[in-house]
Amino acid sequence: MAIDIKKADQIYRVSRWSDGYYQIGENGNLHVCSNHSGNSKEQAQDGIDIRAVIEEAKSNEIRFPMVLRFHDVLRDKVVTINETFNRTIKEYNYQGKFCGVYPIKVNQMREVVEEIVDAGKPYGFGLEAGSKAELLSALAYNTNRGSLTILNGYKDEEYIRLALLGIKMKRNIVFVVEKFSELENLIKISKEVGVEPTIGIRLRMMIKARGRWQSSSGIRAKFGLGIAEVLNAIKLLEQEGLSHCFSLLHFHIGSQLTDIRSIKEAVSEAGRIYAKLRHKGLPIEYIDVGGGLGVDYDGSKSTSDSSKNYSLEEYVADVVDGLQQICDLESVPHPNIVTESGRALTAHHSCLIMPVVGEINPSAVKHQFESPKKEHILVQNMRELLTIIKQKRNLQETFNDAVQIQEDSVSAFKLGILSLEEMAEIETLYWRVIKRINNGLNDGKFHSDELDKVESLLSSQYLCNFSVFQSAADSWAIDQVLPIVPISRLNEQPTKHCSLVDITCDSDGKIDKFIGEHGIESTLPLHPLKDGEDYYLGVFLTGAYQDVMGDMHNLFGRVNEVHVFKSDSEPEGFYIEEVVLGSTAKTVLSTMQYNADFMARRVKRLIDKNISKGEIGPREGVRLVDFYEKCLASYTYLGSNEAGG
Ligand code: PLP
Repeated sequence: MAIDIKKADQIYRVSRWSDGYYQIGENGNLHVCSNHSGNSKEQAQDGIDIRAVIEEAKSNEIRFPMVLRFHDVLRDKVVTINETFNRTIKEYNYQGKFCGVYPIKVNQMREVVEEIVDAGKPYGFGLEAGSKAELLSALAYNTNRGSLTILNGYKDEEYIRLALLGIKMKRNIVFVVEKFSELENLIKISKEVGVEPTIGIRLRMMIKARGRWQSSSGIRAKFGLGIAEVLNAIKLLEQEGLSHCFSLLHFHIGSQLTDIRSIKEAVSEAGRIYAKLRHKGLPIEYIDVGGGLGVDYDGSKSTSDSSKNYSLEEYVADVVDGLQQICDLESVPHPNIVTESGRALTAHHSCLIMPVVGEINPSAVKHQFESPKKEHILVQNMRELLTIIKQKRNLQETFNDAVQIQEDSVSAFKLGILSLEEMAEIETLYWRVIKRINNGLNDGKFHSDELDKVESLLSSQYLCNFSVFQSAADSWAIDQVLPIVPISRLNEQPTKHCSLVDITCDSDGKIDKFIGEHGIESTLPLHPLKDGEDYYLGVFLTGAYQDVMGDMHNLFGRVNEVHVFKSDSEPEGFYIEEVVLGSTAKTVLSTMQYNADFMARRVKRLIDKNISKGEIGPREGVRLVDFYEKCLASYTYLGSNEAGG
C-alpha cells in the first residue's frame, strides 16, 4: 500500500533527528542534504539519493556492510558551529574570539581529521589530542595558522617532550594539566629542553552534570584539579617564575549533555573561577568549555540519554552570555572561548548501510500434521485454546494456559512422552493461539505487561549483514538509540514489525530499541522482503565514536568505506572520491597473532598428505588450496570473496 512520504517521516522521525541533513525524497528514497538551509522541500530535491550512491558503490564491487561518509555534511557542521559562535559573539558585543578545536578521539580517521581542518581553515579551527598517538597526528595535520592544539589526557615524559617539539615548530600548543604531578614534570622537562610551555589547567568541577557521562564532573571526577590544587599549582608556577604561562582554564563535564542547565551552571562556575584568577593577576586568555554539546539521536528534544533539550544556538548563546555577564560583573576581560565539541560535529556525516539477508520468525513456521486417531492430551489442550479464544474467553487466561501447556510439553518431551511430531504440532498451535491473542488486543482495554509484549513475540527478526560490536558499539554497550531507516520504499506502508539481529554468533548481537512514532519502541516498522530485490537499512548518526570504536568480535573487521562528495556537474549530483577497503580475514587474523602465510602453508601440507593417501584428487587439492588462500584475502562479512569487497 502506498503512503505519503510525510507519513514515513513521522514513522521514522527523520526530520526530528536529522538536523535537516537527511530527508525522504518524492521517489521514496532517503536523501542526504549537505546545505544546512532548513528548507526541507528544496533540500530533498537538491540532496543526494542514497540509493544511487549504494548502486554506484555496488557497481564498483564494494561489498556490504559499508559506511557512507558524506564529507559535505562534515564541512557544513564545521562551518555552522564556527559561524554560530562568531555571529553570537558579534550580536552580544563579546570582546573575546571563538577558537574551536576538534577532539581527534571522537573519530580518528585521517580523512575526517583532514576534512575538519580544511573546512575550519577560514576560522583558525584547531585540534585536540588526548594521547601520544593523537598528538603525533595533530602535529602533522593541524596546519591551520594560529589555531590551537589542545593537549588533554594523562601525559608521560615522552608525551611532554613531543609537545615541546611542537612548540619549537611554532605550533600554538596548550598543555592542559589533568593532575598536579603533571605540572611538576612539565616544568622540569621544559626547563631541560629550554622551551616555555603554554599551560592550561583542567578544573575538577563542583557541579554534577546530568547525562550518561555525568561522572566526568563532580568532586570525585577522574580528571582535573580541585580549587585547592589550582591554588597550589599557581604557587608552584610563581615559584618557578612561570605564572605568565598559565593561559587557559579548561573544563569538561561529560559528553552528550542532555540538559542545558548543566551547561549554564558549568559556565557560571568556571567563569567565576576565571574572574577570581584574573584578579590574582594570572594572564588567562582562554576558557575551554570542553565537549558535551549533545546530539538529538531520538529526536525527542528531551533530557533522555539519547536526546538534548537545547539547540546549537541556545548552547552558544548560553556560553557567550554566561561568560560575558560574569566578566562584566567582575570587571575582567572577556576570555577567548574554546570548545572541544566532537559528537555534534561528526555524528551526522556518516551512516552504515547494511542489507537485510534473511528473516527469522518462529511464529511463521507451519507444521503439516496428520492428526493421529488419538491426539496426546497436551496437543488436544493446546488445540482447544483456539476454539476457546473464539468464544471470547479472557485473553490473559488463554495466554497463561498456552504458556503452561508449552512448558509442560517440553517436560513431557524430555521424559520421552511426546514425539518430535507432537512437539512440532504443539509449537505450531502455540503460535496460532498467540496470534489470535494478539488480534484480540486491539480492544482499547488495559492489558498486562505480558500481553503488551505479545506483539513483539510475533515480530520478525531481520538478519542484517553487519556486526553490532564493530559498527554500533554504543547500541550494545550503553543502549544508545541510533536512528535506523530503510533506504528506499519509504512511499510504501511498512507492514512488518521487526527487531534486527547481526551475523555474529552472539545473542547480544541485536538491536531492539528503535526510535518510533511514539517514543522508543522494541520493534521497527519495516517492509516485507521481496524475492530478488535488495532491501537496505541505514544506521544513522554513527560518525561520532561508533565508526572507530568497534571491536572485532567473531573476527568481523572494519567495514568498507565510501567517501561521497556533492557535485552539481554530475548527473546524480555526487561522486565517490575514495573507497577505503575494510579488513580482510588475513588482516584481522594477524591482529590476533596469526600468520596467514604459515596457515596457508600448513593447510597446503595437510591437503598434500590427503592427496598422497588418495583421499583427495590432485586437481581438487589444488582447487581447495586456492580457495583457502582466496578466503584469507577476502572481506570478513557475508557474501564476498575478494579483498575488502
Ligand atoms: N574533550 C574532552 C576532554 C573529552 O573527554 C571529550 C569526550 O568525552 C570531548 C572533548 C568530546 O566530547 P563530545 O564528543 O561530547 O563533544
